[in-house]
Amino acid sequence: LAEKLQETFKKLKNKGKLTEADVGEAMREVRVALLEADVSFKVVKEFIGKVKERAVGQEVLESLTPGQQVIKIVHEELTALMGSSQSKIVVSSKPPTVLMLVGLQGAGKTTSGGKLANYLKKQGRQPLLVAGDIYRPAAVKQLQVLGEQLGIPVFSLGTQVSPVEIARQALDHAVARGYDMVIIDTAGRLHINEELMGELKNIKATVKPHEILLVVDAMTGQDAVNVAEAFNHELGIDGVILTKLDGDTRGGAALSVKSVTGRPIKFAGMGEKLDALEPFYPDRMASRILGMGDVLTLIEKAQANFDTQKAKEMEEKLRKAEFTLEDFLDQLQQFKKMGSFQDLLGMIPGMGGNKKLKDLQVDEKEFVRMEAMIQSMTPQERRHPEIINGSRKQRIATGSGTRVQDINKLLKQFLETKKMLKQFGGSAMMKKGKKGKL
Ligand code: GDP
Ligand code: MG
Repeated sequence: LAEKLQETFKKLKNKGKLTEADVGEAMREVRVALLEADVSFKVVKEFIGKVKERAVGQEVLESLTPGQQVIKIVHEELTALMGSSQSKIVVSSKPPTVLMLVGLQGAGKTTSGGKLANYLKKQGRQPLLVAGDIYRPAAVKQLQVLGEQLGIPVFSLGTQVSPVEIARQALDHAVARGYDMVIIDTAGRLHINEELMGELKNIKATVKPHEILLVVDAMTGQDAVNVAEAFNHELGIDGVILTKLDGDTRGGAALSVKSVTGRPIKFAGMGEKLDALEPFYPDRMASRILGMGDVLTLIEKAQANFDTQKAKEMEEKLRKAEFTLEDFLDQLQQFKKMGSFQDLLGMIPGMGGNKKLKDLQVDEKEFVRMEAMIQSMTPQERRHPEIINGSRKQRIATGSGTRVQDINKLLKQFLETKKMLKQFGGSAMMKKGKKGKL
């Protein structure tokens, strides 16, 4: 979707004055792009109507940069379509806040439960995960493993007690132990049916959750929207967690959910890793779709992962030009924490639509190899790479299972990075990261 829209807008941008026909032509292209992205027909129709109405107004046609004005309008309307502002989870004034995750099988409920608990824990909350899916034998285990990985307690009564009873007891347990967030994982089915809805309604009636969050798979496009509509109609939902947005290139579900169901997307799943859950920001999603990159998310990511103390030390080192291979290793590890390199590149403005960069496979395995090579060096070598001669290179290569030319490449990359960082004049990026708000 982003690519199609960027093409359309490039044409507009390069024009001087716009005529109504120019706008009409652009809107026809936008319409096709949206439909191809699996945005619901009704949503597209309304959207185009709104944009067109605003775009053929005097202010646009007579302005100096009409193309940009149209893009601005499209951006604003896309943002509005997705709910304008970020929707937070409602926290009860009387803890615990109870969140219930519902959705079809495989949508990502259990994974999202773990991610959400992790997210809340990072915000200083004390979450309790509840294993309410008793039908798939592995489901309880899956949640327990997640809980262990994250250091978050999981409440389970096995698979012989009814989910309603499990939820009820979990609530008592949370009150007794002082957990302030209870996240209930529930069972899904392949299709929506009465049995599924009946059980969910029972849990709802028993524990009266503060929020019912529907988990849907972005990659299923229009189906995800239909599922959301049905769940909202049958059960009533408060918000949506849109998963697998990392694999969704079309954006249809993200764009339609809010306007079809009236319920906002609150979080987006961006990968399989347990920190790959982000609050959903409509304006940033709109920017991403329009290919402007998502600078704010990038800054936040950098900020969340960048140890401030480390950043300070690094700044000091750069000032003194003492950047060593040890620091380089540190940087690589910081980078790895930020998530996939591809993701990060896509968020940089102008990179989203850059064909060449997109084809360029950034191999995360490469990171691992670079780490191994640096780890095979002696502290002395890491601090004074200029002493690394031929025989040292041979030893390092053997130690890290690489070749001498790999060591040469690494050293070259190190020197280039060092040079680049020096030009940065004390690391503008780290400073910028600090300023962004969470
Ligand atoms: P459930 O049946 O609804 O509980 O679904 P699961 O939580 O078991 O997830 C099903 C699959 O989707 C698992 O393999 C997850 O790793 C994967 N998954 C969940 N969320 C995401 C996401 O945001 N991105 C990607 N790429 N995979 C995800
Ligand atoms: Mg599950």
